[in-house]
Amino acid sequence: MEDLKDLTIKSFGEGLREKKFSAMEATLAYFENIKKMDPSLGAYLHLMEESAATQAEKIDLALQNGEELGPLAGVPMAIKDNILIKGHPATAASKMLKDYVASYDASVINNLKRSGAVFLGKTNMDEFAMGSSTENSAFRLTRNPRDMERVPGGSSGGSAAAVAGDLALAALGSDTGGSIRQPAALCGVVGLKSTYGTVSRSGLIAMASSLDQIGPITKTVSDAAQVFMAIQGSDPLDNTNAGIAYDPKEILEPSLEKVKKLRVGVPKEFMVDGLEDKVRSGIEQAVEKIKSLGVEVKTISLPNAKYALSTYYIIMPAEVSSNLARFDGIRYGARDDENKKQSLLDIYLSERGRGFGAETKRRIILGTFVLSSGYYDAYYEKAQRVRALMRKDLDEAFKEVDVIIGPTTPTTAFKIGEKTSDPLSMYLSDIFTIPANMAEIPAISIPVEKFKEGELPVGFQLMGRRFREADILSLGQYYEKLN
Ligand code: GLN
Repeated sequence: MEDLKDLTIKSFGEGLREKKFSAMEATLAYFENIKKMDPSLGAYLHLMEESAATQAEKIDLALQNGEELGPLAGVPMAIKDNILIKGHPATAASKMLKDYVASYDASVINNLKRSGAVFLGKTNMDEFAMGSSTENSAFRLTRNPRDMERVPGGSSGGSAAAVAGDLALAALGSDTGGSIRQPAALCGVVGLKSTYGTVSRSGLIAMASSLDQIGPITKTVSDAAQVFMAIQGSDPLDNTNAGIAYDPKEILEPSLEKVKKLRVGVPKEFMVDGLEDKVRSGIEQAVEKIKSLGVEVKTISLPNAKYALSTYYIIMPAEVSSNLARFDGIRYGARDDENKKQSLLDIYLSERGRGFGAETKRRIILGTFVLSSGYYDAYYEKAQRVRALMRKDLDEAFKEVDVIIGPTTPTTAFKIGEKTSDPLSMYLSDIFTIPANMAEIPAISIPVEKFKEGELPVGFQLMGRRFREADILSLGQYYEKLN
């Protein structure tokens, strides 16, 4: 088996088909790395060694028999623990679900199985995907493989750490306000959140349903494009699914001619004070490189972007409070025997009190408040109106440009414990990623340059029009050829 560091989905597929290694050898090589590294890294919550071996065996057999292989045949993948895989735990990193075993496959898992992917295990995350550092996990700490004193970002921190640390070749995360892109940026890998409604949410443990999307975390943009094509598609089990048919050629084999015609905008509101110097110079560097492709870049304005964070922290908790109502010790959540004699209200109070962590409780309380009678109009309804304004802002901008570029995060990876006692400073991590969720548009975080030992990675973000994943993915694929 060659060095896992050099593998991408593309080179993996070639190596497997040229019989340089088998799917089983690859799977075992990743587990060997996991055994060595994960006790200190903390990327995984559950390993799936037996089922992974069975999946890899099947791929090797198909290969021997000359059968046609799926596009992700044998690719060892890590799955965020809020995505259901039948017969395996799905805890969403909450004590509330510590004994829960999924009774069905999420639609994305069905799609990946059809593509031939092998699942290595379930990754750590912030409880119910709420957080920006993975420190809100009820079970373990995840470290950033680029600097073990620092957080990997969140909430898909385990998935990003697994890919950056070569404990998986690719991973799935979920993104409600930045949870794929922010950890990807902090760990120096690629993370894509596609247009709302392109990837089925069936089998994703819901956080805020009008914002949640599942997406890939990978080492390269071209790998992200591969995984995106495998997981997207119409699904009768998700009634918000848009049923768009993407042209695989446009996404997987982009043309430089088309990329050169893209017009790119930098929102002046994104290059603000408070941006870490290293991030600012990283973005300037990315813009220069994009210009060197022959692409036109100009300054644009998103006047309402400044409201993104405050409206998100009204809409998101409102949806959280209703989605998490089902975790009550009866429908979901295991009950202690001694609790069985209690009244219904006592059960709710004791189970929800015991099962949820502090951040989850904070958001349920906030959400219940903004939805309560008398406050609904002042908060929730108003926030929905501002969300519409933000969408309009972006529609206007996309009349002038095809792609918007900016930072993914205001800072590089911060130290473990640095922001845990100050929720507001933690919330600020998502200031640049939230607009894409609010406007339902696709956005990707890409490392500015190849990782250099001893330096913290910086990611830049590309946002595109709804359903124009092709624009950001094709520009990204040509960008990474320059690296
Ligand atoms: N970090 C953001 C939050 O805490 C985003 C979470 C997410 O995208 N799941 O809400």
